Amino acid sequence: MKQFFVTLVVFALLLCSSTAPAEKIKNLKKMEKQQPSNPYYSRTDTAKLNLPDAVWKKVLSPEVYATARQKKTELSFTGKFWDYTGKGTYYCAACGNALFRSDAKFASTCGWPSFFEVVRKGSVTYLPDRSYGMVRNEVLCGRCGAHLGHLFDDGPPPTGKRFCMNSVVLDFVPDK
Ligand code: FE
Repeated sequence: MKQFFVTLVVFALLLCSSTAPAEKIKNLKKMEKQQPSNPYYSRTDTAKLNLPDAVWKKVLSPEVYATARQKKTELSFTGKFWDYTGKGTYYCAACGNALFRSDAKFASTCGWPSFFEVVRKGSVTYLPDRSYGMVRNEVLCGRCGAHLGHLFDDGPPPTGKRFCMNSVVLDFVPDK
């Protein structure tokens, strides 16, 4: 009897830990629908946005706001995209600005979604970041100024760059 229960628990754990790709997409869509209505979000408008945090606080979910406006870094290996391999485009979750193509994503061991190049020049901007006793290049959305992550020089060819991003500030749209 005891052996039966152990088998049952192991089976249940296996079921919970392996989410099928279709299920993962469904979960992503569900998460998108939970976002508050954001009138500044557009995947076609590239006009720069210069809005105060008080405005962003009203239109972003608390999770997106914490990273985009307060520079919170999500825990490694926890974000929705760190090991995601779908084909498509990644956009800024705050404003809809196109940031990366899935072709530029690579399997990094750092636990955050990593890309070797941006989708177009001006997609992002950079700021020197001297927090935590390190000198890093902060990566910001080129349209809305949201904090996205950091840029490192240990990426793969052809650029040698690693755009180390927070999943929570990325929106993924699969190719048709
Ligand atoms: Fe943005």
